[in-house]
Amino acid sequence: MSSSSCNGSPSLNAVPTHGQPLWLLAELTYKCPLQCPYCANPLDFANRTTELTTAEWIKVFEEGRKLGAVQLGFSGGEPLVRQDLVTLIKEARQMGYYSNLITSGVGLNERKVGEFREAGLDHIQVSFQAADESVNNMLAGSKKAFEQKLKMAREVKAQGYPMVLNFVTHRHNIDQIDRIIELCVELEADYVELATCQYYGWAYENRENLLPTRAQLERAERITNEYRQKLEAAGNPIKLIFVTPDYYEERPKGCMNGWGQVFLTVTPDGTALPCHSAKMLPIEFPNVRDHTLDHIWNESFGFNHYRGYDWMKEPCRSCDDKEKDFGGCRCQAYMMTGDATNADPVCSKSEHHHLITDARAVAEQPLLHEEMLFRNEKNSKVFFRS
Ligand code: SF4
Ligand code: SF4
Repeated sequence: MSSSSCNGSPSLNAVPTHGQPLWLLAELTYKCPLQCPYCANPLDFANRTTELTTAEWIKVFEEGRKLGAVQLGFSGGEPLVRQDLVTLIKEARQMGYYSNLITSGVGLNERKVGEFREAGLDHIQVSFQAADESVNNMLAGSKKAFEQKLKMAREVKAQGYPMVLNFVTHRHNIDQIDRIIELCVELEADYVELATCQYYGWAYENRENLLPTRAQLERAERITNEYRQKLEAAGNPIKLIFVTPDYYEERPKGCMNGWGQVFLTVTPDGTALPCHSAKMLPIEFPNVRDHTLDHIWNESFGFNHYRGYDWMKEPCRSCDDKEKDFGGCRCQAYMMTGDATNADPVCSKSEHHHLITDARAVAEQPLLHEEMLFRNEKNSKVFFRS
């Protein structure tokens, strides 16, 4: 167990029953040809080069199925970088998983899409940075990214996949929401995630540059609703999912459906986490190389630490909503207040809520500087711990 700035250790006896890890996210690698300034990978990703072998991943998948996992996401970095992806997909299919590839589309080609289909991949999610080629390529840090994404989205549909298109929205692209939706309709997406940036990791470093104003957000939501009605009336089955940033809420979301309740993420080096951001917390999380997933899920300190309610401080401890939102996000509480047992500052009952309202106020001001910190090896090295 690492030293911890978290106050109050929960007693394991008080941990209530918890569910199964229905959703297993396999972050196969941190390697990625792109450099999105809102990437969810750790800031020091370039210092984490160890990756599980094919055999180790297969063991993780087997143990996950035994625990009840049914959905398996292949993510990264860019999972296409892994040369054994077809083997992993095939193994997952044989075990009975519903599998999903979460990709930037860079590194994909017609042959690979066909191989994934044959291996039994169920679903592909392609992420875009914007609907405008120059903004997309500026954010991705690649001159060819947009063209490649378009080509691959068409290929995914041509090979009969259900397709999710994911757009992370922020102040640089949210005003193009109508163009984004039209592009998704043109590409025949089945689902579209218009997911406003979540401010962790790289996005937190670039928050001033990314957080939209309230007016931008409200306009985008209104236009999305108008498109929903229009598309439905036209008989188009496309589903538009609009995710608001919690910075414009007064209550936090029920993060991950509760700590260690449904989600289990395994990072490239085998660290098991209750959510993909949790590595930032001052807690030692177990590694699949040292323990079985059964032990990790049911017995480990890291997974039991914020289960239940005993760890909570006021105002969450005596709050009627604690079973609904679990006090919000532990990572956001830690990142913004320095103590993961605090209420998520998104909550207006939190004494730290001003950190959120201050950020909203900054978003209303003109940008002081346009430069962003891109997610690349050079910038990652700044965050290496000695
Ligand atoms: S968010 Fe961008 S940089 Fe990060 S893994 Fe995805 S495509 Fe790569
Ligand atoms: S005080 Fe805590 S439990 Fe209550 S609404 Fe706020 S974050 Fe949720």
